[in-house]
Amino acid sequence: AVRLDIPAGEIGGLKLLHNFCSGPIHDYQEKRDVPAAPGVSRLSAHLAAGTLSPRQCFAAAANARATTTAPGAASATQAGIDAWIGELIWREFYRMILFCFPHIVHEAFDRRYATLAWSNPPTHWQAWQNALTGYPIIDAAMRQLKTTGWMHNRLRMITAMFLTKDLDVHWKTGEAFFMLHLMDYDQASNVGGWQWSASTGTDAAPYFRIMNPTLQGQRFDADGTFVKKFLPALENVPKAFVHEPWRMPSALQREIGCIIGTDYPRPIVDHQEVKLAAVEKYRRLGADAKR
Ligand code: FAD
Repeated sequence: AVRLDIPAGEIGGLKLLHNFCSGPIHDYQEKRDVPAAPGVSRLSAHLAAGTLSPRQCFAAAANARATTTAPGAASATQAGIDAWIGELIWREFYRMILFCFPHIVHEAFDRRYATLAWSNPPTHWQAWQNALTGYPIIDAAMRQLKTTGWMHNRLRMITAMFLTKDLDVHWKTGEAFFMLHLMDYDQASNVGGWQWSASTGTDAAPYFRIMNPTLQGQRFDADGTFVKKFLPALENVPKAFVHEPWRMPSALQREIGCIIGTDYPRPIVDHQEVKLAAVEKYRRLGADAKR
C-alpha cells in the first residue's frame, strides 16, 4: 500500500505549513518547477482532506509577507510568497468554476472543442500508465505518482499534456487515473488541471503550445536527479543523454548496461511528428467554430 510521506492530521498539517512559511516559501518562485528540489509545500493532501483550511494557509502566507516587509527585515523576496498565494487562488478559482459549470466533469469547458475526437490507442494508454513511454520525465513522473500517491505540479502538466496531445488519449481517461492514484485528489483541481492541459478548459494552455517532454526534462531536471531516482535503469546514463537515452551510441549503451529497447523502452512516439497532428486536430475545430 502507498503511504503519503508527510506528517498527518491537523497537527502534522500545521507543522508542514509553519515550516514552509518560515523558509521555502521565500524561494518558491525559483524552485517551484524543479521536481528534485524541496521547493513546494506538499500541503495539497491536507487541503483535500480538510485537515488544513485554505484560510489557515492564506493567514500563514500573509504573516510571512508582513515579516518580510517589516523595516529591517532580511532581504527575503516577496515574489515567492505572492506566487504561492497565487496557487492557492488557482485552487479557489477551480472550485468556483466547478460550482458554476458542473458539466465540465464530463465535457469540454470550451464549447469549440466539444466534439474533439480522440483515437485512444490502447498501446499508448498502457505505456503511459505503466511508465513505459520511453520519455524519462514522463515515466519517472508516473512512477512518482504510483509509488508515492503524489506528483509534482510541473510533472502533472507534462504528463497530462503528453497523454492528451502526443498520445491522443481523452483527458477524462487520464483524469480518472489520477483520481485513482492521487492522495490529494480534488475533483475541481484535477478536472481543471486536465482540461488546462488538454486545451479545452478555462484560460487553458493554447493548443499549439505543446510541451516537449525532452526539453521539459532538460530544463527542470537538468542533471537528471529526479528521473534517476525513479528510473534506476538510467542510473549510469551520462547527463547529456539522460532525457533522450535513445540517442546514446550502442557502445555506450553496452558499456553502462542500459540497452535501449531492452533495459529501458524506445520512445513510443516521435514527439515532433505527433505534435503536428495534434495541432492540426485542434486548428480544424477552432477554425470551424469561427465560421
Ligand atoms: P504548492 O505548490 O505548495 O501549492 C499550494 C497549494 O495551492 C496546493 O496544495 C494546492 O491546494 C494549490 N495549488 C497549487 N497549484 C495548483 C493548481 N495548478 N491548480 C489548483 N490548485 C493548485 N491539485 C490537487 O490538490 N488535487 C488534484 O487532484 C490535482 N490534480 C491536478 C491535475 C493536473 C493535470 C494538474 C496540472 C494539476 C493538478 N493539481 C491538483 C494542482 C497541483 O498540481 C497540486 O495542487 C500541487 O502539485 C500540490 O502540491 P503542493 O501542495 O506542494 O503545491
